[in-house]
Amino acid sequence: MQFRDLKAQYQALKTEIDAGMADVLASGQFILGKQVGELEQKLAEDVNRPYCVSCANGTDALVLALMLWGIGPGDAAFVPDFTYFASAGCASTVGAEVIPVDIDLTTFNMCPDALEAAIERVKLEGKFRPAVVIPVDLFGLPADHDRIAAIAKKHGMRVLEDGAQGYGGQIGDRQACSFGDAATTSFFPAKPLGCYGDGGAIFVDSEEEDALLRSLRANGRGVEDKYDNQRIGMNSRLDTLQAAILLPKLKALREYEIAAINEAARKYTQALGDAVKTPVIPEGYTSSWAQYSVLLENRKQRDGVQKVLKEQGIPTMIYYPRGVHQQTAYADRHWSDEIFPNTVEATNRILSLPMHPYLTDEDIDTVSTALKKAIRG
Ligand SMILES: *Cc1c(COP(=O)(O)O)cnc(C)c1O
Repeated sequence: MQFRDLKAQYQALKTEIDAGMADVLASGQFILGKQVGELEQKLAEDVNRPYCVSCANGTDALVLALMLWGIGPGDAAFVPDFTYFASAGCASTVGAEVIPVDIDLTTFNMCPDALEAAIERVKLEGKFRPAVVIPVDLFGLPADHDRIAAIAKKHGMRVLEDGAQGYGGQIGDRQACSFGDAATTSFFPAKPLGCYGDGGAIFVDSEEEDALLRSLRANGRGVEDKYDNQRIGMNSRLDTLQAAILLPKLKALREYEIAAINEAARKYTQALGDAVKTPVIPEGYTSSWAQYSVLLENRKQRDGVQKVLKEQGIPTMIYYPRGVHQQTAYADRHWSDEIFPNTVEATNRILSLPMHPYLTDEDIDTVSTALKKAIRG
């Protein structure tokens, strides 16, 4: 069994993907070919945001957005403690100070109350200026963007939505990557919208920001004279081949993958019942299920269950084994576990199960039955 079956997806979309790649090979336009612009336009329309600029990966997308706003030394960036490292690392890359914020144990997303408390603490200390919040749409579920936006506004801060795992999620009819003052996503193969290598994108609201990002992703090049470099940027573009692969994948995501993966989630939750704590999707929210993660009783039970499942050929993952505050890169901050009780709880108890739109009923039954049996011991 596959944890995320990219081969099954390729088989389903093979004709279109192969044809798209052949077109690129024949055109010879490997960098910024026409498929890149076409994809950017489709993505912007898809999430209902005016501008989309693609780039080399989701990490660069975050860094480019922070560069766009001039975030740097002296600025504090508030990030959920429980996330993939890049959500925090991007702020350090531009020289800003990372302030981890505890999560809500029901949604695994940034807790707005903890955010408010963290902002007050930073203001009181007076060392850094609260500049930006980076809420993450973890496991496909949008963060509490309305409350976070209100808190950011009150403190004069910007919001950067990290939608790397969130593409396809919704709050009401508002799409992930339409929240915040800007949003980013990743096309890493295993994400809800993945390519066949690395890729990413930034979503913004104004023509000026769009133009500046296009300069920043090409080493700060000028618009008229590309060899007059007007600012310091980086080299971070989406390959034409990857854009050609993403075009049919975006279509499939909207036509049936989101529906299929939500059906798989419903079946898992039904089958697992009260055996474990199954994921909760708040009223009005839609998840794109980058992960289906359950909570076991404690670390001992979780680790035991994972081992038993592995012996039966069922792959599971621990997303994530440690919080941002526990990362060695930040050891000199001496952050205490006590400020992040929910992250600590999640890292001890969480287990992500095989999940993708091509999961069969038999797969779901095999995993659920084995999981329940492993718990009973
Ligand atoms: C994957 C991921 C990223 C980074 O994306 P890459 O394309 O791997 O650089 C950033 N944030 C989150 C939450 C992610 O899951």
